[in-house]
Amino acid sequence: MPAEEGAEHRGAEIAANLARVEQRIAAACEAAGRDRKDVTLIVVTKTYPESDIRLLAGLGVREVAENRDQDAARKAAECADLSLNWHFVGQLQTNKARSVVRYADHVHSVDRLRLVGALSTAATAAGRQLGCLVQVALDAGSGERGERGGVAPDGVAAVADAIAVAPGLRLDGVMTVAPLAGAYAGQPRAAFDRLTEISSRLRETHPAANMVSAGMSQDLDEAVAAGATHLRVGTAVLGVRPGLR
Ligand SMILES: *Cc1c(COP(=O)(O)O)cnc(C)c1O
Repeated sequence: MPAEEGAEHRGAEIAANLARVEQRIAAACEAAGRDRKDVTLIVVTKTYPESDIRLLAGLGVREVAENRDQDAARKAAECADLSLNWHFVGQLQTNKARSVVRYADHVHSVDRLRLVGALSTAATAAGRQLGCLVQVALDAGSGERGERGGVAPDGVAAVADAIAVAPGLRLDGVMTVAPLAGAYAGQPRAAFDRLTEISSRLRETHPAANMVSAGMSQDLDEAVAAGATHLRVGTAVLGVRPGLR
């Protein structure tokens, strides 16, 4: 297929996928009696090229997410001419903080005090204000961290309080990934209900921290039903990623 036709084909494919996801979100909002405007779709572009991000932007997508700093930094630079908000959703090492604050508007995966310190130092040095979400590991026991990152529910308040007073950081809310193991395995609705409870508790002391980031391609409907404000959707919009990432 000539390159131009290929791009046209890919554009049509992404547009159709996006329309299907949009229908699912609208139906889930309707069923839950929620306003569609209260739910934001973030498209997870990890492993997909700059050209796909340009097609997404052309279709009106403004919120994109990545999970690896090296890829994210490169794509954000390549797409600097587009008005996009970049969300970082992967596990983050403290030595990547300086890079991430240069392009990210939000980090969804803040899960320990040392990372709060590193992000604060980096954001301040870069003259940036970074929105932070506390990642909650619903499958982690007291004092532990999750397999895929995140702090146990009883550690959320300490991380949130640290973000709230850290220069250069803004506490925006909470995030989770539905656990694959433990009591919540195969029960995304129960997991997201638990996250909503944690969010309500957090807002008693931090009323502005109202982002609830939950729901991916498989379970975005349950996330909307449970009250999520931000959905992180990759596969359903861009297709199945080659390899496990
Ligand atoms: C990849 C990823 C997503 C998107 O997952 P899909 O199943 O492709 O929709 C959402 N959140 C995080 C943290 C991810 O790493």
